[in-house]
Amino acid sequence: MTMESTNSKPRELVVISGKGGTGKTSVVASFACLANRPVIADCDVDAADLHLVLSPRMTESHDFLAGHEAVIRQDECNACGVCHTLCRYGAVEMSESDSGVRKFRIDPVACEGCGVCVRFCPEHAIDFPESLCGEWMVSQTRCGPMVHARLGVAAENSGKLVSTVRQEAKRIAREGNHPLIIVDGPPGIGCPVIASVTGATLVLIVTEPTVSGEHDLERVLALTRHFNIPTTVCVNKWDIDPEMAKKIEDAAQQQGATVAGRIRYDRAVTLAQIHEQAVVEFQSDGCAQDIREIWQHLTEQFQNMERESRPINEQMHNGMGTLIHRTEAKS
Ligand code: SF4
Ligand code: SF4
Repeated sequence: MTMESTNSKPRELVVISGKGGTGKTSVVASFACLANRPVIADCDVDAADLHLVLSPRMTESHDFLAGHEAVIRQDECNACGVCHTLCRYGAVEMSESDSGVRKFRIDPVACEGCGVCVRFCPEHAIDFPESLCGEWMVSQTRCGPMVHARLGVAAENSGKLVSTVRQEAKRIAREGNHPLIIVDGPPGIGCPVIASVTGATLVLIVTEPTVSGEHDLERVLALTRHFNIPTTVCVNKWDIDPEMAKKIEDAAQQQGATVAGRIRYDRAVTLAQIHEQAVVEFQSDGCAQDIREIWQHLTEQFQNMERESRPINEQMHNGMGTLIHRTEAKS
């Protein structure tokens, strides 16, 4: 099954969920196996786990620098305490020796990198280097190149790291003429999710037939609607509560999304993970068959989108032809 695009720009399928643990990564791993030469981007940078199934061989690793962190040069500090007074995040710690000598240091975890202490230190004794928040890597997998990342402990700026991973995946796709990027997006609706869906060709929301699944889906759909991104939904483990699955599908359609299909509950998902395989590699029936059908649906949805956009491209092409013709006529 292919998702070839007639234009050179790679398509981008982003798979997200309202919360973690819906089976999103298992679905992404299966799609990576079913797709034709995809680039895979693991944008779930706070809890990346796609590598556990796709066993990437790392070829590049890069530091991820984001924000700044204040550091006091102790030998130039006169212990005036201005930084301690001004820091509204309580990041400047003060200690006092028995002889009454005060010492100030900055807690790197509490420091928000606002720069106020750096600006107002009378001795200019505070350095403000960029802080190392994690790393991002390029790897090869049996399905295609993969860009993934690891956010440092207690590090923030995961939205920026998501953008970095997506940008790199797009670069690899363009340069290697890959037709499709498959993105494993972060859970929730926060900044990292927004960073992972903006500008995507199509978003697939994986949800579960539970009350929280229904609630989370509503929030995620509001997000993709806000950014005007075509969205489709699949209910994982639908047979746990068929009534709720139907309710979720109806709600999704009422809110402008399509329904990509249903995935049954199947222990094969866990067994496949134990064998470091995607479930479509592990078996051909059961939930693997459901995922194949969803993949078929997505392929058709991409083709429909291609067809709908073609008249616009053709009009642009014709318009350009007219423009060239007129320019030639004038000269
Ligand atoms: S403001 Fe500067 S000089 Fe004063 S305590 Fe802080 S680091 Fe030291
Ligand atoms: S940079 Fe801002 S948050 Fe960090 S210690 Fe200085 S004042 Fe506090």
